[in-house]
Amino acid sequence: MAGIKTIHFHYIAAKPILLVPDVTGTAMNVLIVYAHPEPSSLNGALKDFSVEHLRRAGHDVIVSDLYAMRWKAAIDGEDFLNRDPDRPLRVEAASKSAYEAGAQAADIAEEQRKLRWADALILQFPLWWFSMPAILKGWVDRVYACGLAYGVGEHSDRRWGERYGEGSFKGKRAMLVVTAGGWQEHYAERGINGRMSDLLFPIHHGVLYYPGFDVLPPFVIYRTGKLDDARYQAELAALGARLDELWTTAPIPYRMQNGGDYEIPQMQLKPGLSAGRYGLDIHLADNPV
Ligand code: FAD
Repeated sequence: MAGIKTIHFHYIAAKPILLVPDVTGTAMNVLIVYAHPEPSSLNGALKDFSVEHLRRAGHDVIVSDLYAMRWKAAIDGEDFLNRDPDRPLRVEAASKSAYEAGAQAADIAEEQRKLRWADALILQFPLWWFSMPAILKGWVDRVYACGLAYGVGEHSDRRWGERYGEGSFKGKRAMLVVTAGGWQEHYAERGINGRMSDLLFPIHHGVLYYPGFDVLPPFVIYRTGKLDDARYQAELAALGARLDELWTTAPIPYRMQNGGDYEIPQMQLKPGLSAGRYGLDIHLADNPV
C-alpha cells in the first residue's frame, strides 16, 4: 500500500504531520505507552526518536504520555460508573459489568480504544525497582478490564479461557523499551540482579502474552548513568533497527496455553517437555517455529 497516508491524530508532535510518505508499504498503527515524568530525560529522548522514526517510515503513532496525561494509577470504585456505591466493591465483577455496559471511566475507555486501534504496542519506561513505574502498572490495572484482557473465552476441562497466546489482543505485537541504571553483566545469567529476561517475565508473559500479544524481545539500554554521546548514538541506531523490524522480528516463543503443552485444568506443563530446563524458561517452546 505505497503512497501518501493521512495521520489523523497524535499527542506529542510539536507540529501536526498530516501527510507522510508510506515508504515501507505496510503502514501500521503503533501505540507507545510512555512512563517518565521528565520530557528532557533519556526516556523522553528515546520516545521522541521512536515517534519520529516510525512516522518517517509511514506508520501512524499515538503516544500515551502517562505523566503528561496525569494518569490516575489507582483502580477504585470511581472507575465503574454503573456501580452501586452502597455495596462492597468487587473489582473483577465491577470491571466486567462496567466494560460490558459501556460504563467505564472515560480515560479507561479511551486507552482501550487506542489498544484496539494499535497493531503494535510499545511500553517504554525506566526500570524502577526491577519493574515498571507505578503509573504504568496503574495503566495496566485500569485499562485491562475484565472481559477485555482477562476473563475471556470458554472455561472448561478442555480450555481455560483465551489467554497465553489467545485473547483480545491476538494478532498484535508488543515490545518493551527499557532503560536500566545497572550494568548488563548485573542482569546476565549469573548476575546478582537476576536475568533481565526473568525480571521482565511478569510483563512479557503476564501482561502481554496473557491477553494475546506476540511479545518481541525487549530493547534494553543498560548503565544509563554512563551513557556518553557515542553510545547514545549507537543505542539510537540500534533502536531504529528494532523499530524497522517491528513487524518481522520473531516473537519470544512462549508456549500457548491451549496448544496442547499444558494439562488442563491443572495448568502444568506436560511431562517430558522442556527437559533439562527449569524456572521460567520451561514456558519457552522446545522447537520454536
Ligand atoms: P536520565 O537520568 O534522563 O539520563 C541518563 C543519562 O542518559 C544522562 O546522564 C545522560 O548521560 C544520558 N542522556 C539523557 N538524555 C539524553 C539525551 N537527550 N541525549 C543524549 N544522552 C542523554 N536501575 C536498575 O538497574 N534497576 C532498578 O531496579 C532501578 N530502580 C530504580 C528506582 C528508582 C525509583 C529510580 C529513580 C531509579 C532506578 N534505577 C534502577 C535507575 C533507573 O533505571 C535509571 O535512572 C533510568 O533508567 C535512567 O533513565 P532516565 O530516562 O531517567 O535517564
